[in-house]
Amino acid sequence: KQVSREWREEPTIVTLDNGTRIGAGEVSVMAGPCSVESEEQIIGIAHRLRDAGATILRGGAFKPRTSPYSFQGMGEDGLKLLARAREETGMSIVTEAVDPESLDLVVEYADIVQIGARNMQNFSLLRRAGRAGKPVLLKRGMAATVKDLLLSAEYLLAEGNGNVILCERGVRGFDTHTRNLLDLTAIPVVKSLSHLPIIADPSHGTGLRAKVIPMARAAVAAGADGLMIEVHPDPEHAMSDGAQSLYPDQFEELMSQIAVIAEAI
Ligand code: PEP
Ligand code: MN
Repeated sequence: KQVSREWREEPTIVTLDNGTRIGAGEVSVMAGPCSVESEEQIIGIAHRLRDAGATILRGGAFKPRTSPYSFQGMGEDGLKLLARAREETGMSIVTEAVDPESLDLVVEYADIVQIGARNMQNFSLLRRAGRAGKPVLLKRGMAATVKDLLLSAEYLLAEGNGNVILCERGVRGFDTHTRNLLDLTAIPVVKSLSHLPIIADPSHGTGLRAKVIPMARAAVAAGADGLMIEVHPDPEHAMSDGAQSLYPDQFEELMSQIAVIAEAI
């Protein structure tokens, strides 16, 4: 299979327009709010994140919410705000597509197309993303094995898209102290099986702000090629995932800790 180390020995490096190289040995950080909520919110936070060292801005414009009554995202207006944030800060943009319509829009605006945990095995969406000509961030499904994740990535590679970044974001566990169980063993396991870069998302992986920083440090120590971290200027009033969003000053502290760990390994 094309995802395997036997197919390709050297690690895949995903290079973005702003010069970010994911999988090249550095820790690439994708940070931002769960949802794009307003111009003030996304532009303001983008500047702070960039100044702290993040090179990729995240923010959902199409949200796959568990309840149909929860905020579903700003749609194309949100994508336009992300594009403006990129213009102002030089950050690359990663944002989620949830269906064929949103995929076509996301491809127009984003640097990386995110396929979320709930769509990891949406094979027709994967095929379409594989043909879209943009790097893809593929998040592990909450009940998916590492093998399932790699086979989903294979759908992208089989369509000719080799610019794939995998993401461990936690699986369903039985312990209610955290929202999900962040499976850090997936990082060395993927590294042994595949040439693709893998990042960790301790925000969705734990669901709790106080657990994000220790697990982010652990993911870097485990060899992650990057991190996805939710940060909000005012988590108490976030439209989604406020409880797991870092305050900007916590993010700045985390970035300096990551630099020390990355240097040491
Ligand atoms: C997200 O990144 O905002 C998200 C919805 O993640 P996941 O698909 O991992 O739940
Ligand atoms: Mn979220």
